Amino acid sequence: MHRSARRAIALDIATAGSVAYVRHIDEHDHDPQHDQHDHHHQPVAAPPTHEEFRSAAASFLAASIEAGDHCPAFGAIMPPALHDRARAWQRRVHEVGFAGIHWPVEYGGRGLDRSYTAVWAEECAKARAQPYLNLQGLILAGEAILRSGTDAQKARYLPPTLSGEILWCQLFSEPDAGSDLAGLTTRAVRDGDHYVLNGQKVWCSNGQFAEYGIALARTDPSDPGHRGISFFLLDMSAPGVGVRPLTQMTGDQEFCEVFLDDVSTPADTRLGPEHAGWSVAMEVLQDERGSSGASGLISLERRLAHLASLQGDDPVLGDELLRLLVRGHALKSVLLRSGGGAASASAAKLLRTELEFDAELLEASLRGADGMLGGDATDRLLYAPGMKIAGGSSEIQRNIIGERILGLPREPRP
Ligand SMILES: Cc1cc2nc3c(=O)[nH]c(=O)nc-3n(C[C@H](O)[C@H](O)[C@H](O)COP(=O)(O)OP(=O)(O)OC[C@H]3O[C@@H](n4cnc5c(N)ncnc54)[C@H](O)[C@@H]3O)c2cc1C
Repeated sequence: MHRSARRAIALDIATAGSVAYVRHIDEHDHDPQHDQHDHHHQPVAAPPTHEEFRSAAASFLAASIEAGDHCPAFGAIMPPALHDRARAWQRRVHEVGFAGIHWPVEYGGRGLDRSYTAVWAEECAKARAQPYLNLQGLILAGEAILRSGTDAQKARYLPPTLSGEILWCQLFSEPDAGSDLAGLTTRAVRDGDHYVLNGQKVWCSNGQFAEYGIALARTDPSDPGHRGISFFLLDMSAPGVGVRPLTQMTGDQEFCEVFLDDVSTPADTRLGPEHAGWSVAMEVLQDERGSSGASGLISLERRLAHLASLQGDDPVLGDELLRLLVRGHALKSVLLRSGGGAASASAAKLLRTELEFDAELLEASLRGADGMLGGDATDRLLYAPGMKIAGGSSEIQRNIIGERILGLPREPRP
């Protein structure tokens, strides 16, 4: 396994909104721009059946893997070592019509419904190929712009996001605002037709590569809570943006500190109304934790089959392995039942990331001391704790489940 492909199983919970209508395999050589420009003047073709679409996706993936020009699945966070390959893969996927499958045709998408995106995600999971360039762009920023953007914002940001020209990062967390995101202190002050941003962000995945970031900043300091926050589409090359990569215990540098020092951004980069960015951000967080649906099931089943194949003489470890398998099958039921929504996304995120962490610990115990000395397995072990924190920690997911699914009393708020 490629060292950086280790978290394909760790957090492929990110196919939240999957999507829609694809062209047939024999159309792959057509110019998608041509299709877009002419779509008003040509008879509207019937969408392919799901079987046709699935077969086209599977053939394309098989050919790409054989040619070696696909990007191996890496899950939610793009490893730096795969940056160039992931961008090239996004370009290729876009050229052949498997990018933005449910996005509107006028913004470079296919205009199909989300069920087709789910089929693409499933075929990618089977083929162990990455379905899109990165979660932060194709899911978080892209879906937020589709939901809350003006027509001008959609036209400006969506096509280059689909073609891989723009890579996005997420600038939400701050040194003193993670779980308590509404406590963020980065300020955005209106100055004529611009806002001026000052503050610091942290844990910004892929920040060193990103052309744009989705950023939260306080526009109304008189309200210290969630009501005074606005949501921006920030140009990472603007003067005053400083990016410093952080080294994780795996040795990789996947996330960064980002310093905003008098960064001027045009007022039309604000997504949604002023002071009302919180609701835009909450939908983004739901997408981030979103259920993987059938594609998540495929990788989970693969994971469980692997766990079931593990051998060990230690009866204590054998018992632990059995407990993990039972938890895995319970998670499978949750995924099969889950109807979407914030609470079920939290349940799936919590169960999967905790299962992965415990499975890595168990595998390390079965391998013994030699298993700690390096290589893929050690790397996966060191990576797993981060997934219990990214996108909202396990404790926060438990709070959401307690309050929204189980109806327990709300946690005291300050
Ligand atoms: C691999 C990785 C990638 C990330 N990528 C990004 C990114 O791209 N962009 C971005 O903006 N952020 C990113 N993050 C940040 C992530 O969202 C935060 O780390 C997370 O929300 C937790 O915030 P914190 O680190 O400030 O911890 P804190 O909020 O300080 O929490 C510390 C501990 O206290 C617990 N805790 C806090 N509040 C409560 C409570 N109310 N009840 C019970 N327990 C509580 C937490 O569970 C945790 O164990 C990433 C994090 C990781 C690990």
